[in-house]
Amino acid sequence: ARKKLNRLKKTQAVTLDGIEISLLANIELPQDAQAALEAGANGVGLFRSEFLFMGRTGHEHKLPTEEEQFVAYRDAVVAMKGRPVTIRTLDVGADKPLDSSEQNILNPALGLRAIRYCLQEPQIFLTQLKAILRASAFGEVHILLPMIAHSFEIDQSLAMIQQAKSELALAEIAFDSKIKIGAMIEVPAAALSLPMFVKKLDFLSIGTNDLIQYTLAIDRADHEVAHLYSDTHPAILQLLHMTVSAADKAEIPVAICGGMAGDVRLTRLLIGMGFRELSMPAALLPEVKQAILTTNIESLQVHIKKILRSYDPLVIQECLQQLASVGS
Ligand code: PEP
Ligand code: MG
Repeated sequence: ARKKLNRLKKTQAVTLDGIEISLLANIELPQDAQAALEAGANGVGLFRSEFLFMGRTGHEHKLPTEEEQFVAYRDAVVAMKGRPVTIRTLDVGADKPLDSSEQNILNPALGLRAIRYCLQEPQIFLTQLKAILRASAFGEVHILLPMIAHSFEIDQSLAMIQQAKSELALAEIAFDSKIKIGAMIEVPAAALSLPMFVKKLDFLSIGTNDLIQYTLAIDRADHEVAHLYSDTHPAILQLLHMTVSAADKAEIPVAICGGMAGDVRLTRLLIGMGFRELSMPAALLPEVKQAILTTNIESLQVHIKKILRSYDPLVIQECLQQLASVGS
């Protein structure tokens, strides 16, 4: 069994009809890169940088310094041996609080979190951007902006990145001047205004955890409403489809980095819809790869069309079952 798994690790995820799917890993700390490599990941699709910022009791500084962050990002980049690493800028707040004072916020998921927080704390944001840019001198790095809803948030973030670049250039510190910049699609407003995103950015990445939370208006951390959390709700499927279609039309890459990407029951649905990049916890990667290796995308199309035309949850479930048995 180990031998088989080892062989699977080195096999590229290609469908029976020859379509290559990029399987990437989600990491929280640089040391997670090892597990990503061992699982055969094509890169890191989501480095959740906020984990460097959380739970820092006992540290001299409340927040990690530019140097500390640089070392962490560079270590992850070097560990991935030339594979791309997508570093998401600080996504604090709500389910990932920076400190205990946040417990008094009335509605943290809708509050001053993620990019909103960074744009109000430009020094913290700039420090992180410089650290990420410095790491980009050591391998392919992409910058991913979380929870964008407004056009001006993209503009302000791009301006901050430009400022970080200028400061590094002035100090003659190396970085990749052509670094790719993308945004998370995880707020319904973003999925409904994609032309705003594809014009200004190099890539998109869908955060299905938050997209489901905000679309269905259910707190992702509240067990009382967990039964209402549905990744195959017609609204979610439409938003995913709109996003992959808009990205294809604009000829920019789109990934999924939320929980749906690592759910093997959804692999055929997602690649059938057109997704070619999935980022997930490393441990889930082998099963998803196995599912891809046994799938012919062309033969899924009738079922996918039916799913996207149907607004009946029972029909959708039935079609998903049919998808699972295609070709077997
Ligand atoms: C998501 O929202 O799906 C996502 C990938 O980000 P996080 O789970 O860290 O909010
Ligand atoms: Mg999210």
